[in-house]
Amino acid sequence: MQPEPSPYSGRVERLRAGLAQADALLILDPKNIRYLTGFTGSDGALMIGADWVVLLADGRYVTQARSEAPGTEIFEFRRRVDGVAALTRQHALGRIDFESAALSVEEYLRLLEALAGVDVRPLSDGLKSLRAVKTEHEVAKIGEAARIAKEALAAVLTMVRPGVRETDIAVELDYRMRCGGAEQVSFETIVASGPNAALPHATPGSRVIEPGDCLMVDFGAVYEGYHSDETCTYCVGRADSRQREVYGLVLAAHDLAIGAIRAGVACGEIDRVVRNCLERAGLADHFSHGTGHGVGLDVHEEPRLARGREEILQAGMVVTVEPGVYLPGLWGIRIEDTVLVTEEGCRILTQTPKDLTIL
Ligand code: ZN
Ligand code: ZN
Repeated sequence: MQPEPSPYSGRVERLRAGLAQADALLILDPKNIRYLTGFTGSDGALMIGADWVVLLADGRYVTQARSEAPGTEIFEFRRRVDGVAALTRQHALGRIDFESAALSVEEYLRLLEALAGVDVRPLSDGLKSLRAVKTEHEVAKIGEAARIAKEALAAVLTMVRPGVRETDIAVELDYRMRCGGAEQVSFETIVASGPNAALPHATPGSRVIEPGDCLMVDFGAVYEGYHSDETCTYCVGRADSRQREVYGLVLAAHDLAIGAIRAGVACGEIDRVVRNCLERAGLADHFSHGTGHGVGLDVHEEPRLARGREEILQAGMVVTVEPGVYLPGLWGIRIEDTVLVTEEGCRILTQTPKDLTIL
């Protein structure tokens, strides 16, 4: 792979081309600011005019902003709203479209006060799909995150046995991912055993693993800002016939969805494939979430693979496939991989085998 040429000016151009109505765009989501400039700080703002771009940062971040976004003009502010107001006056802006999902009501009201007379409008969906299609360099980072996560899980599985607490496994997995090169974990690692595995978003607790449990591990690593996301479900000691049957069904739904993914297919269609498969076994009511989501600088981003979603998959999108069946009070099984959409199909980026494994 060639070294990555700076992607930032191209991304800003793409955004400008899609949103030509306003005199300036005000970007506030730190992940979008990172995507557009390279600046990784947790606070700031980015203003994009017709032929200018200014990154606003407070005193804590000015040095970092200069080094991470060397091609971008930096403006130092004390209060973010005052910085935006100063640039608005300087560029005599009449209309600003801002990223409404990333602004508190309180700061919005301050912004209106500071920009009296300026037409301030929320950017509706304009930014949602900005990051959905990845470059090969972004895909490589997600792949590296998945590799780090896989290695860490493989090392931790040896400690799974009856008597070990969920939280011990979760802490060890996080530790191994960090030691293996993850700058963070993608989200709070889920290690759920027995009836806890029937909760799609369980938090690891002090429950001790027992023979016959399903053990669900949903985990991911972050590498250079990019996330991985993967779920493995194991059986501990033994698997009864019902667990084997449902595991086979969830795996079949997962495989059918992966087989259906390619550029040009609607996101909702992939969800339908999964739901139909579970429906035939009478278990669709036990699948209580969408089939998948985009993964990148955020672990949950566009597009969503869920019922009725009409967005069309494009080559370069990275999405999860994560069907599950949850039987309240008993156990649950989810199988999740992250895949890269291609013209002909998809390539699986997560690396842990998904065949039924008894630990
Ligand atoms: Zn997950
Ligand atoms: Zn996921």
